Amino acid sequence: MRGHVNLSRHALLPLLLFPFMAVTAQAQSSADLVLAGGKVWTGTESAPQEAIAIRDGRILATGSSAAMLKLAAPGATIVQLHERLVLPGFNDAHVHVQIGGADLVGVHLTDTKSQAEFRERLAAFARSAPKGSWILNGMWDQERWTPIALPSHELIDDVTPDNPVAIARTDLHMILANAVAMKLAGVDRNTKDVPGGVIQRDANGNPTGIFKDAAVPLILSAVPPATEADMERYFLATQKLAYENGVTSIQDMAIGSTDTESHLKLRALQSLAREGKLKLRVAECLPLRDGKQMAELGIEANLGNDLFHIGCLKSFADGGLGASTAWFTEPYTNNPANYGIASDTMQHPEEMYAEMKLADQAGLQLITHAIGDRGNHAVLDFYERLEKEDGVRDRRSRIEHAQTLLPGDISRFAQLHIVASVQPFHAIDDGRWAETRLGPERIKTTYAFRSLMDSGAMVAFGSDWPVAPLSPLTGIYAATTRRTIDGKNPNGWMPQEKVTVEQAVKAYTFNAAYAEREETIKGVLQPGYLADIIVLSEDIFRIAPVDIQKVKVDLTIFDGRIVYERGGTK
Ligand SMILES: [Zn+2]
Repeated sequence: MRGHVNLSRHALLPLLLFPFMAVTAQAQSSADLVLAGGKVWTGTESAPQEAIAIRDGRILATGSSAAMLKLAAPGATIVQLHERLVLPGFNDAHVHVQIGGADLVGVHLTDTKSQAEFRERLAAFARSAPKGSWILNGMWDQERWTPIALPSHELIDDVTPDNPVAIARTDLHMILANAVAMKLAGVDRNTKDVPGGVIQRDANGNPTGIFKDAAVPLILSAVPPATEADMERYFLATQKLAYENGVTSIQDMAIGSTDTESHLKLRALQSLAREGKLKLRVAECLPLRDGKQMAELGIEANLGNDLFHIGCLKSFADGGLGASTAWFTEPYTNNPANYGIASDTMQHPEEMYAEMKLADQAGLQLITHAIGDRGNHAVLDFYERLEKEDGVRDRRSRIEHAQTLLPGDISRFAQLHIVASVQPFHAIDDGRWAETRLGPERIKTTYAFRSLMDSGAMVAFGSDWPVAPLSPLTGIYAATTRRTIDGKNPNGWMPQEKVTVEQAVKAYTFNAAYAEREETIKGVLQPGYLADIIVLSEDIFRIAPVDIQKVKVDLTIFDGRIVYERGGTK
C-alpha cells in the first residue's frame, strides 16, 4: 500500500519518476475528508494523532492537524473534532442478523399503556407494512394496560384488513391473531382444542384470537418462511442500528437455520451490494453442514470482497447456561443430575470431526459455539487433532463464547492458535445468577477474558445481538467494569478478569478483524486501510470505565463517507 514511499531509494528512478511525482504530489493534496483537532487512536501507536485524512474510502495519512488540513482537496469535507476521540469503526464478531433484523422491522408494542394505544400503534404499523405480509413479534403485555384485559381479534381486525397478524405477548407463551391470520391458518369454531394449549373462545365457541402454548403453532405454522426481500430488510435495518452504535463490520452467525435461509441471506447480500445499498461489512458464516458443498466448489475462507465474504462455518458443541443445556464435566450446582447436553452434532463426535476435517482441509474456517467446560474441551480437542493430523497453518479456528473453561484449557487457545470470540455483555448479564448454577470454583474460569488475553490468546469481542445490545460501548463498559446489570457487583463480578479499555477497544477492532481474516484492511487507522472510522462524544481512555456506558457515538464514517451523525440527518 505504501510501495511508492521507497521508490526514491532507487538511483535510476528520479528521472523516470518526474512526471509521476507531480501526479503523486497532486494526489497527496486531494484528501476528500479530513478530521482535525482531536485525538486519533490509530491502534498502532502509543500516542494519539491529532488528525486523519481520507481519500477514496481509504486512509491517506494521520498526523498533526496542520499537516492533514494541508492534504485537503478544494471542497473537501472538514470535520472539527474539538478534542473528541477517533477510533477505527467497531467490528462485532458475533451477531444474528436474521433474528435481530426481524425484531427491528417488526412492530413494537411492549410499552403501550392501553388497548386504545395498542390498537393505534398496530394500525400505524400495518399502514406502512407491505400488503399481505405477516405482522409478528410485537411483545405486548396487557398487564401494563389500564384497564388490564386480554385483547381479542375484534380490537384489531378493522385496522389490519390486509395483513395477517400473529403478535406475541412478552412471555412468548401467548399470541393474538387477527381474523385474516385465523382464516389463512384454517382455524375457526370447528378447530379442536390442543392438549397443552388453549384456544380462547367466546360464548358461541368462536376463537377470540388468543392462542396459548401448544395452540400457538395452529397459527404460526401458516407463516411462510422468510423471503429474500425479508432478508434485505433485515440487513438494512441492522445496518442503521449498527451505524448508531459505531459498528461498521459485523460477523453474522448461522443459527442452525435451514439451508434455504442461508442461501436467501447470500442472495440478499448480493442484491444489496449490487444496488449499492449494502454499506456495512459482513462476514456471512454458514452452517457447518454446508462445508462439503463449499469444499467441492473450491470455496475457501474469506471468499468475497471488502464488503462481504463467506467461508466461515458455524457449528455447535452444546446449548446455553440460561436453559441449563451448556455441557459440563461436573453437574450443575443447583441440579446434581444435570450435566447439560452435547449438541445434536456433538452426540456423534466422530461424524462431527470428519465434517470439520473435510472443511478444514478445503481451507474453510471453523467457528464453533461452546459454553460449558466440557463443550469447550471437546472443541479444543477437535482443533488440536486437526493440527496434529494435518499440520499447523493459519487456520484461525474459533470458539464462540468460550464461556466456562477448565483451568487447564485456558492456555490451549494460544498454544493451538485458536481465536476466543467472546461477548462481554453476557458476563454482566449472566453474572447475576451464574454462581448458583456453577458454584464458587467454576465461576473463576467463566468469562475469563483477562486470563485468556494474558495467556497470549487472540480474543475478539462481539455482542451476540439480539441476545445482547448491538453496542460495543456497552461491551467495553462490561469488559472493563464487570458490573452486573442488577447493580450488585459495583467493583466487578470476578474483578480479576477485568480488561483495560485499550484491550477492550482492540478486541472490538483489530482482534475482531483478525478473527475474520481481515486485519490487513481494517481494525487500525493507518494509511491504505479502509476508512471506517467513528467519533465518540468522550475520550473513553481518560474517563472512568463506569462512565463509558454514557458515551455516545457522534459520527460514523463508512468507506470514507459520513453515514451517521448523532442528532443529524445523515
Ligand atoms: Zn450467538
